[in-house]
Amino acid sequence: MPVKQAEFLVSNSDAAKCPKPDRPEYAFIGRSNVGKSSLINMLTSRNSLAKISGKPGKTQLINHFIIDNEWYLVDLPGYGYAQVSKADREKFAALIDGYLKSRPNLLCIFVLVDSRIEPQKLDLDFMSNLGEQGLPFVVVFTKTEKLGPTKLQATIETYRAKLLEEWEEAPDFFVTSAVTAAGREDILSFIRPLNES
Ligand code: GDP
Repeated sequence: MPVKQAEFLVSNSDAAKCPKPDRPEYAFIGRSNVGKSSLINMLTSRNSLAKISGKPGKTQLINHFIIDNEWYLVDLPGYGYAQVSKADREKFAALIDGYLKSRPNLLCIFVLVDSRIEPQKLDLDFMSNLGEQGLPFVVVFTKTEKLGPTKLQATIETYRAKLLEEWEEAPDFFVTSAVTAAGREDILSFIRPLNES
């Protein structure tokens, strides 16, 4: 079932100013340019709910959207942009950390990775950190229409193996494309039952 209603609520650079945690919440995060805005637009069947980034790494804001009056979708700033200063990187880490620690309604973090790129330390470290904090997350492969099925499967297996080096269980994986809308129903079908629980 597609999303019926999707509305932008608020952008802010202070986790304390996020909406009251009165609904289930799901956050989307990944490296700049991973395809996060495109994925959010694809999931919500909107052309421009989230902005397709012109200048990666520039916006360091937590963006809240309300979906079907039922759950919050949170667009977190992209990480790993090479050209930011150390001070900006630290500000970013503090912002994300503050956000992650202050949302009791956060039911899952969707960590996006570009399916065409080998597992990166930065992404694996970010997942490790979530795991250590006991925060539930899943991995979303983006831009998968660019890969054939064999290469895609190999990428997924490489990630799974990397994560199993550290954890007993691998997280769920979602295969998506903003171009073909692959993965939309899978992600929405994952979210809906969590909303009920
Ligand atoms: P963000 O910085 O993570 O929000 O990434 P954007 O959504 O702005 O996308 C970054 C670039 O990747 C843009 O040029 C998009 O058109 C492209 N892109 C995003 N999703 C896909 C996808 O599923 N397939 C392909 N081929 N390109 C994509």
